Order: sequence, then C-alpha cells, then structure tokens
Amino acid sequence: MTKSLGLYIHIPFCEKKCNYCDFYSVCPDKTMRQGYIKRLCEEIIKWGALTARPIDTLYIGGGTPSLLTAEELEKIFSAVRQSFVLTDDAEITCEVNPADNVSEFLSAAKGLGVNRISIGIQSADDNELKVLGRRHSFADAVNTVKLARSIGFHNITADLMLGLPDSSVSTLQKSIDALLKLNIEHISAYILKIEKDTPFSAISLNIPSDDCVADQYLQLCRSLNEHGFSHYEISNFAKKDFESRHNNKYWLTEEYIGIGPSAHSFFDGKRFFYERDLNSFIENTKIIEDGDGGSGEEFVMLSLRLKRGLIFSELEDRFGIEFSDRAMSLIKNLEKNRLCIVTDTSVSLTDEGMLVSNSVINNILGVLYENL
Ligand code: SF4
Repeated sequence: MTKSLGLYIHIPFCEKKCNYCDFYSVCPDKTMRQGYIKRLCEEIIKWGALTARPIDTLYIGGGTPSLLTAEELEKIFSAVRQSFVLTDDAEITCEVNPADNVSEFLSAAKGLGVNRISIGIQSADDNELKVLGRRHSFADAVNTVKLARSIGFHNITADLMLGLPDSSVSTLQKSIDALLKLNIEHISAYILKIEKDTPFSAISLNIPSDDCVADQYLQLCRSLNEHGFSHYEISNFAKKDFESRHNNKYWLTEEYIGIGPSAHSFFDGKRFFYERDLNSFIENTKIIEDGDGGSGEEFVMLSLRLKRGLIFSELEDRFGIEFSDRAMSLIKNLEKNRLCIVTDTSVSLTDEGMLVSNSVINNILGVLYENL
C-alpha cells in the first residue's frame, strides 16, 4: 500500500519579531510576499511531480500564515491540490496570530478545506504577552477562538509558554484556567528557552529556577489531565481523538515534505532542509542534505517522546535491536525513580520522566547501543 506523506508549508513572515523567537521569519513588504508565493507555488508543483504518494496531513505554519491575504492562501491551496492528492480525511492545519484581523482569512481557510486552527496564545496575562513582545492581548486571543468557532472550526489548538520571566506556578495556573475556559481541543506547551541572537539573549531576565519550572510543568500535566486532556507527547496535550496527526508523523518517524526557507523534510529515507534565507529561496533555491533518516536511534528518541512509548517488538522488527539484560535493568531502575513505566511490551516516560527526557533518553540509548 502507498504510504501517505505529510506536507509542511512555511510562511516566513512576521510583522514584528517576538523577543524569544528563533524561528525563521522576516518582516515582508507586498512585493516580497508576492515573489515568495510565486516561488513557493513553483516549488510545491515541483515536489508534486516527484511523488504520487497521497498527502494525509497538511500544515501551514510560520512565521505568520494569517498575514496572507485570502487570495495568496488560495494560490497556495491551488498549487497543492493541482500537484498532490489530498486524501478526503486529510488533517489540514493553519497557524493564526490573534493579533491579526483574521475574519476574512479564517473564512477563506475554511472554504479551502482547513479543518484545524493553531492559535499562538502563549499566555493569558497581558503583561507577560508584552514582555514576550507578542502583538496581541489575551482578549484578542479569546475573540480569535470565538471567531474560529463561529466560522465552523471544531478542532482548535493553542500554544502556551512555561517558565516565563517572573512567573510562578500560580501565575501559570491562571493562564491554564483561562485556556480551559476556551474549551479548545488541544494545547501545545513549551518551556521558554533563551535562544542565541534573540532580544531576550541580550537582556537580564528574572527566569524562574529549574525547580519552579519543573513544578509549573507538573502542575500543567495535572491540570490538563483533570480536564480530560491526554498528555500524548512531551509538549502536547489533546482531548480524545484530537492528537495532531501531522506532528505525530514527526514522532513516529513517518515521512513528510517541508517547503519554504528553514523547512525540513524526511523523504525517501533522506533528511534535508532549505536554507534559512528568503532571498536565496526565491532566487536560487538550495536544499541542504542532512543524512539518512529513520535510524534505530532516531526511532528510540522520538518514540520515547510519546506517551505510548517505545514498543519493544517494533524496535526488534524494524531494527533488529533487543533490550539486553543491562538495558532492562536500567529501565527498571528508572521506573523505581518514577521516571518511566515498563510493561511486558513497552517502556514509556512518566510526566516526571518527560521533564528530564533528554537525560533519560540518552541513558537508554547509551545502554541499547553500547555493544552495537
Ligand atoms: S509570531 Fe511566531 S514566528 Fe513570528 S516572531 Fe512571534 S513567535 Fe516567532
């Protein structure tokens, strides 16, 4: 059976950079935007000609897709539909910034088949939003959710940030409670990381201690669990049947094509990405090879990000790797320390384990690969 693909399209435009953001985006003018859309559509068509595999998840992210006009969005969809077979049940997600006047954009998106909206809310506290350099208030976010509902979107996800300057468990809880009131289906929660060359890296901030950030994360897990969300991936929580099918492809080492500056792909067993440079994408598109994908090591790392965990039989069938006695004793020890759960068929991280996932996963990899 032909294996479906995911398709990611990057819209590298933001009106203003947020203070913490390391994603690739630039402030566009109309000519730049038009030049990009034209080149992007050519690249979509080129990829479509290279594969007959159907697309069952499409994700339009950024940057800020909601800066596009309805006409620009239509051009992108027309290129996608003329070049690829989109399955009838495809999950089609579009990111939206609550700062934008998105009424026309959301109506156009709905008409084009978008069925999942991702809203960058980040916090329910207007002071925190200001510190982050976001262009919107929490009231804007509430209005965007209401608008999306009124237009007929039944699958809405929001981003939330933890570990913000001057934050505590109780300030985070206020944001969690406010998000829960919105009755959305999915929440992605990320711990603030100070990235190089961002405005935050150049100033002194009162970042909460590691212990406080850990308490925030565990409190978030508890609160969302109590309200019917499953913690299905380190940073992702969903109500039943609302896991992100597109992002699950990344974690299940399934293949996808990413188009646009900085977008990554895993296709035909290879990983590669486009340069982080809009002009070079428009004038002289360069793809940078990033080696083979889908190794056993990658499979272990990505599987352990998921609540379902690493299934022993899958690891053995796909990569011929068995858990040795030493590996078993390591994960049993981690289990004693409440960092993972071991069953006859799998090992998966607990919420506490997810909090320190890098070190837990590295320990497991170290033992699994010591004799290979
Ligand atoms: S809107 Fe999103 S992509 Fe743009 S600067 Fe802010 S966080 Fe980054």
